[in-house]
Amino acid sequence: MLEYKAPLRDISFVVNEVLESEKLYQTLPGYEEVSQELMDAIIEEGAKFAENVLAPLNQSGDEEGCKWSEDGVTTPTGFADAYKQYVENGWPALSADPEYGGQGLPDMMGIVLNELSGSANWSWSMYPGLSHGAINTVEAHGDEQQKQIYLTKMIEGAWTGTMCLTEAHCGSDLGLLRTKAEPQADGSYSITGSKIFISAGEHDMAENIVHIVLARLPDAPEGTKGISLFIVPKFNANEDGSVGERNAVTCASIEKKMGIKASATCVMNFDGAKGFLIGPPNRGLNCMFTFMNTARIGTALQGLAHMEQAFQGSLKYAKERLAMRSLTGPKNPDGPADPIIVHPDVRRMLLTQKSLAEGSRLFLYYLAQLGDIVHRGSEEDAKKADDLMSLLTPIAKAFVTELGFEAANHGVQVYGGHGFISEWGMEQIVRDARISMLYEGTTGIQALDLLGRKVLGSGGALLTGFTEMIDAFCKEQDSEVMQPYVETLQKYKDEWLGLSLKIGEKAMANPDEAGAAAVDYLMYSGYVTLAFFWARIVSVAQAKIAQADGDTSFYDAKLLTAKFYYDRLLPRTKAHKAAIMSGAGNLMDMDEALFSV
Ligand SMILES: Cc1cc2nc3c(=O)[nH]c(=O)nc-3n(C[C@H](O)[C@H](O)[C@H](O)COP(=O)(O)OP(=O)(O)OC[C@H]3O[C@@H](n4cnc5c(N)ncnc54)[C@H](O)[C@@H]3O)c2cc1C
Repeated sequence: MLEYKAPLRDISFVVNEVLESEKLYQTLPGYEEVSQELMDAIIEEGAKFAENVLAPLNQSGDEEGCKWSEDGVTTPTGFADAYKQYVENGWPALSADPEYGGQGLPDMMGIVLNELSGSANWSWSMYPGLSHGAINTVEAHGDEQQKQIYLTKMIEGAWTGTMCLTEAHCGSDLGLLRTKAEPQADGSYSITGSKIFISAGEHDMAENIVHIVLARLPDAPEGTKGISLFIVPKFNANEDGSVGERNAVTCASIEKKMGIKASATCVMNFDGAKGFLIGPPNRGLNCMFTFMNTARIGTALQGLAHMEQAFQGSLKYAKERLAMRSLTGPKNPDGPADPIIVHPDVRRMLLTQKSLAEGSRLFLYYLAQLGDIVHRGSEEDAKKADDLMSLLTPIAKAFVTELGFEAANHGVQVYGGHGFISEWGMEQIVRDARISMLYEGTTGIQALDLLGRKVLGSGGALLTGFTEMIDAFCKEQDSEVMQPYVETLQKYKDEWLGLSLKIGEKAMANPDEAGAAAVDYLMYSGYVTLAFFWARIVSVAQAKIAQADGDTSFYDAKLLTAKFYYDRLLPRTKAHKAAIMSGAGNLMDMDEALFSV
């Protein structure tokens, strides 16, 4: 069975040394008490829960899966009990609003904890993860009564939440959705329709489930401008907040699927279910946009979780598995062969996993910190942070999940044939990782968002905001170690701006040029963004080495991992650039009929 060990040293490096979180939080109103000591203590507790409670259920959960019956859905053995412990420990309340029972800690702490629970057991972490989406929605758009009834219960963990967007005929294009909401005399709405692929739509972990549902009011305009948002509880709430009558919402079935088998993916039927409008009518999608960034960072985290999980398994195996001799002579002369970690190709895979996991960790924690600045910073800082988040979130969601899948595949490869065998746990990571590039906006949709809405849509302003930050960082670097990183970053930054301009010009003449460039542009942007975060890591590591009078091996490893990333992974940008520059013709010139001759 795969073991999970929380990477506490690296998490502490990112949170305390690179991001200097305590210093930041002391300047944000309401977070002044968030000390390094407090953060470290919470992270250590989270690590224990992930290692001891969640990780042991990961493989058994995959094998057992969820079971559907007319009475409901049963989650795998141990899942409900783990959720009970999670609630007893107060984890659901960690970064929620204290007015409704939350602990009011920064969102970044929630992200760190999600990395821990997600790396230990992604399927399990989907249940509280979806609740988090529902909590954010009600917190941002619910009225006081809705907050008192639903928010408090979800923050307490007694009730969980879902996000019901997708229908059989539409996922990316929600403007097509058909679920109806009819106003009732008592001010509620009667919700009718069917939603598919609803994660945590039904389960046995909590006494009630709060569905956040997108539906159309009568006479609503067509398309995305006619969608409204509703709360539909599984059990209607009594006035005192207790669970009342069963509502007309049922789980018709659960999907058989490739991975995350312990996460229930439900078909939910709403047969005149009682619902309550949240936010203004016909503004449902706009309401959802307010926390879309957080939800997408939550899914990006799945990429990081699988990078870390696959790396941990691969490293252990590569040190133990013996095969052939090192090309430069035996490294284990007393044994029958050398461990496979001596072979350059195995190291290529391990260093790919390691550099992606450590770089992405900083990238995602940084984004979560931007979210905290958006909520608590001065108006000027909040605006800047919001702009950066808008640009970087689609990159994080798509790039980190695409590379999470690559890292998972390397895991199978490092194990050789054993990687393909379920017992070792590596093939599960590949199966579990595959969904992360699909839900919460596919890679293609994120790429259109990045290039179309964020970069071209802002006339380049959002991108320039980030490249100015890269410039400012480069200017601050005065050490010799940093010079190659600074030079490379400056070159890429100029190229990135130039490419954006060229695509923009071509797209004015032919909009398909933007669509044709989008995914390669996103991947290019991802590699450059990660290069920036690796440069930040090097900057801190080399300063620590210069000041140290003891063991520097942790920081030495950072410098070597950064060099690997810059020498071997960053040049992938060249292929993406060539694809972008090749234009839309090679995709669009073929008549549809010719695809099948
Ligand atoms: C396990 C699982 C869990 C899920 N959980 C939830 C959940 O909790 N709640 C929920 O509401 N939904 C959930 N979903 C649904 C998920 O978000 C959608 O499947 C996803 O958004 C894609 O929508 P779709 O499947 O309709 O694909 P489509 O929208 O039909 O897309 C098909 C393909 O076309 C591409 N495409 C579409 N439009 C364009 C375009 N304009 N340009 C370029 N390419 C385009 C897409 O990128 C994709 O490759 C889940 C799905 C799964 C499988």
